[in-house]
Amino acid sequence: MLTRYSGISPKSDLMLLQKLGEKLKNRSFLHVNSTRAGGGVAEILQRMIPLINDLGIDARWEVMEGDSSFFDVTKKIHNALQGNFEDITEEMWQHHFEVNRRNAERLGLDADAVLIHDPQPAPLIEYRKTGTWMWRCHIDVSNPVREVSDYLLRYCRKYAAAIFSVAKFAMAMDIGEFIISPSIDPISDKNRELTPDEINKTLVKYRIPADRPIILQVSRFDRFKDPLGVIEAYRIVKKYNDCILILAGSPATDDPEGETVLSEVREYAANDPDIYILLLPPFSDKDINALQRTATVVLQKSLKEGFGLTVSETMWKGKPVIGGAVGGIPLQIVHGITGFLVHSVEGAAFRIRQFLNNPDMTKRMGEKSREYVRTNFLITRQIRDYLSVWYTLESKGGSVLEL
Ligand code: UDP
Repeated sequence: MLTRYSGISPKSDLMLLQKLGEKLKNRSFLHVNSTRAGGGVAEILQRMIPLINDLGIDARWEVMEGDSSFFDVTKKIHNALQGNFEDITEEMWQHHFEVNRRNAERLGLDADAVLIHDPQPAPLIEYRKTGTWMWRCHIDVSNPVREVSDYLLRYCRKYAAAIFSVAKFAMAMDIGEFIISPSIDPISDKNRELTPDEINKTLVKYRIPADRPIILQVSRFDRFKDPLGVIEAYRIVKKYNDCILILAGSPATDDPEGETVLSEVREYAANDPDIYILLLPPFSDKDINALQRTATVVLQKSLKEGFGLTVSETMWKGKPVIGGAVGGIPLQIVHGITGFLVHSVEGAAFRIRQFLNNPDMTKRMGEKSREYVRTNFLITRQIRDYLSVWYTLESKGGSVLEL
């Protein structure tokens, strides 16, 4: 399967992967997160696990289970880590722990390496018997509500290392910290080339007219993704350029706020017939691919962001992106070269018009965008990095402190 990446991924990554695969052959590597579908983490794991297995490593992906009050609490924790005030009571923390305790009984946690994704399953570390355990943080923790991050750190400190997507998220814990940015799979249905016929099927299915430029944002319905700001920017643009707006999103099982935000978005769109709010079922990968390929201008106008996989997904399709200057977006958008970073609705509207009015510039920036993703944000590079961290920690007896 790895051979399918030759000619696409950088050769050096493939060589390193092969070497690391030899070193870690027949060892077990467990990943645990809190949803099978929706959001960037599930997106990556779905593609990554078979590839790691293909290297001869026994990789497994387990999803923790929780009741709705568990996911209400973990969404609050998530929001607070991204800087929004949330009151999380001792009772809520106890419930968080209790659900983890039950999951520890249910999930087989024995493995040579265990990568725990995000705060939801962080307390599982209390049930570690063996192996190298790493905590993987995908969210923007650069400016957290202190009481909440302090509480969570009680668990995180017990891991052999923590892995963040962006350097400024690192939390100065007394364990090893690594920076590994997420990635996209260039040969998945979400990102592979599509035929004109495949693209057309999606447009027909969602009744998207092909007679005007399309502005697109693909995101869960989450306030941090600023869907209302996108509508506002579109309204400014619409005064000068006729266009349509597509907001495409599907629910994530670990995000209980999606419904509320979706109704806010619908209300704000106020029946504008040129705003298409598409509720995509989970695993609509080909449709998202088709929308990203059809759009004239793609936005990721987040106000807070872990990484923002949709940015690399779009850039891989030869399109520059307009993105909020937050989280991992500035890692992907080199301002003026692979897209534009924006700080306001007006800024977003200005850049949308710039792309709409300069197709040649857009195309040139798009070509640079694709190459930038090829060298930095493909899945082979991310697997290489995970295996390197595991291998390093193991060679150091599970600790990096003595380095
Ligand atoms: N996504 C999807 N369907 C949707 C919305 C998003 O499959 O309706 C995918 C999107 O293509 C990307 C991931 O979910 O691969 C979102 O990752 P990102 O890092 O942008 O944001 P997150 O949701 O993890 O905060």
